[in-house]
Amino acid sequence: MKPFKKILVANRGEIALRIMATCRTMGISTVAVYSDADLRAAHVLAADEAVRLGGAASAHSYLNIQRIIDSARRTGADAIHPGYGFLSENADFAQSCAEEGIVFIGPSAQTIRSMGLKSAARRLAVSSGVPVVPGYDGDEQGNDLLLEHINKIGVPVLIKASAGGGGKGMRVVRSSDDPLEAIESARREAEKSFGDGRLLLEKFIEHARHVEIQILGDEQGNLIHLFERDCSLQRRHQKIVEESPSPALDESLRSRMGEAAVKVARAIGYSNAGTVEFILAPSGEFYFIEVNTRLQVEHPVTEMVTGLDLVRCQIEIAEGRSLGITQDSIAHRGHAIEARLYAEDPLNGFLPSTGRIVDWNIDADFASFSPSAEGHGLRVDAGVTCGDEVGIHYDPMLAKIIAHAGDRDSAIRKLIHALKHTSIFGVRTNREFLIALLEHPDFIEGKADTGFIGENLNRLISPEENPFDQAALVAVALYRQHYQRDSHPLLRELPAGYRNNPWRGPRLKVRLREKDIDISWRNVGQDSFQFDFPGVTVDAQVVFCHVNSIGIVLDGVFSSYRLIADGDCLFVHSTSGACEIEILPRHPVHHSMAEEGSANSPMPGQVIRILVEVDQAVSIGDPLIVLEAMKMEHTCRAGVNGTVEKIMVGQGEVVGPGQVLIQIRSNED
Ligand code: ADP
Ligand code: ADP
Ligand code: MG
Repeated sequence: MKPFKKILVANRGEIALRIMATCRTMGISTVAVYSDADLRAAHVLAADEAVRLGGAASAHSYLNIQRIIDSARRTGADAIHPGYGFLSENADFAQSCAEEGIVFIGPSAQTIRSMGLKSAARRLAVSSGVPVVPGYDGDEQGNDLLLEHINKIGVPVLIKASAGGGGKGMRVVRSSDDPLEAIESARREAEKSFGDGRLLLEKFIEHARHVEIQILGDEQGNLIHLFERDCSLQRRHQKIVEESPSPALDESLRSRMGEAAVKVARAIGYSNAGTVEFILAPSGEFYFIEVNTRLQVEHPVTEMVTGLDLVRCQIEIAEGRSLGITQDSIAHRGHAIEARLYAEDPLNGFLPSTGRIVDWNIDADFASFSPSAEGHGLRVDAGVTCGDEVGIHYDPMLAKIIAHAGDRDSAIRKLIHALKHTSIFGVRTNREFLIALLEHPDFIEGKADTGFIGENLNRLISPEENPFDQAALVAVALYRQHYQRDSHPLLRELPAGYRNNPWRGPRLKVRLREKDIDISWRNVGQDSFQFDFPGVTVDAQVVFCHVNSIGIVLDGVFSSYRLIADGDCLFVHSTSGACEIEILPRHPVHHSMAEEGSANSPMPGQVIRILVEVDQAVSIGDPLIVLEAMKMEHTCRAGVNGTVEKIMVGQGEVVGPGQVLIQIRSNED
């Protein structure tokens, strides 16, 4: 046994941070590796040392075996933790580590290789007496033979890339599909993604659940399981929400599945952490599908119900220690559930969304890391923070939020609450989609299977009008009004929304969910306003207004709103929703003129004198127009050298804050 002093983490994002957190608690130094896109990434800053790998593309950085091994040698790391994704299931990498005398924290290269092909793993399961889905896992891959097997299995049939992962290269063949076309396109995708076109056929089990068993083995031959995770909520065969225990298992099924997983693991002499995945049919029968020879994204669920730190277990096993825990000593406590937050846009076909994160507000209490999240039962494993750039190069997963409670309903409730209090702006996320998913009655009843998201997609993304939107419009209007007033000393003396002409209230033109909306309101008392929306009048009273937040009583109900400005856009978040509101110019004007060139009204007031004419040349500082409010005069002056292009207001007219008064064409244009 050789205790590690220093571990290199060959990954990025939340999993790199997660591994380093455990290293710190064990007193082990850490080495990060990074690509050029990640120089300032959180995982680099969290490590004791960090080594540059190469350019942003994964192939030049996080997948470059030689560079990573050189980095470990240079820094004197005893071991490498691969995290998940990237090189975590690459047998050549594990073998190179071994050859260099660096410990690979995971199973042996041979185990990784033997489980890397789903067909080989299936055959191993069969030989250890564990049921598999009826199908074809042979080496012969001729089209005619595959077609024959599709007929024999009977549609629906699932075609899988044998070397596959991440749901890639999978095709469901139904009676209306052309099976030959499906075979050929799956093969092409498999060749492209994995460099291996071998296919596997399985009966596609409708309304199945995905139930997997966490296993842990040491080098002395001790093997245990840490119960199941139910990962049935999937989109395109990719997990989104995971929980333990599974609502579909009873004690007998749980122990039978646990034993089956251990049987498969024992047959290959599995050591370190791994996951045996099963499909659970509606009939209650379960079938082996594959083994993931690494730490799983959803491992926190197991940590929260068992109180074990799986990364610590992995490190200790790799150091050569024996497990020290027996199957009987592991208790399953309460219920844990995880949701994966992705930078993607559900309203735009779940396409990944990139950009700079300008708001990242997940309750700070939740963010402190502890594997079992003792105390409040909430854990956030995040890879990004405010100010980070979410680029195009890597996986769009931003964070995982995990809740733990005494029972399933309480854990779901806690997770929904945490998601509702999470405010992220700068990239689009699936946050609201996750809330809709967790609030769906079928999910709450434990009835959602792997087909659930696909079958309910329209209801889950519901782009239609949201009652929150109206509140957000009011919040934006009053927030802007407040700050415009504050930036003009003269206006602080005026009541907000002041008008000397009571029948023309302030107005704002905005764009919300692709729709242009005119908002108008009037001041009806101290801090009190009335907004007219189509068909309804809404009473609003401002309780407080600070930088980035406003508290408003809307029709008698108080709420606070978080507001983050980014250019012409305001992001609004409250616990009942979130949206982006773009402020549009009052009058459509040419862009260059709408900016510094034009004279905008700094305040509500009345035009008392217009001092220029169209086509007149003006210089910076020349007086243009005089406004009056509450017996005070204010002269608006030219901000650029140029020519008066258009006078937008008339003598005596009442104008609102921000309204364009005079358009000036700048000489610089
Ligand atoms: P499986 O679906 O086989 O159980 P997991 O869901 O546990 O696999 O994890 C694989 C997923 O993690 C893939 O979607 C992969 O794109 C993603 N991934 C890989 N590396 C990272 C990373 N550093 N940060 C975030 N996500 C990652
Ligand atoms: P990957 O390597 O991409 O994780 P898997 O074999 O684990 O591939 O399959 C991914 C997902 O597809 C599973 O989690 C499950 O939801 C679904 N799936 C796999 N095999 C079957 C099957 N025979 N019938 C129905 N669904 C399946
Ligand atoms: Mg899988």
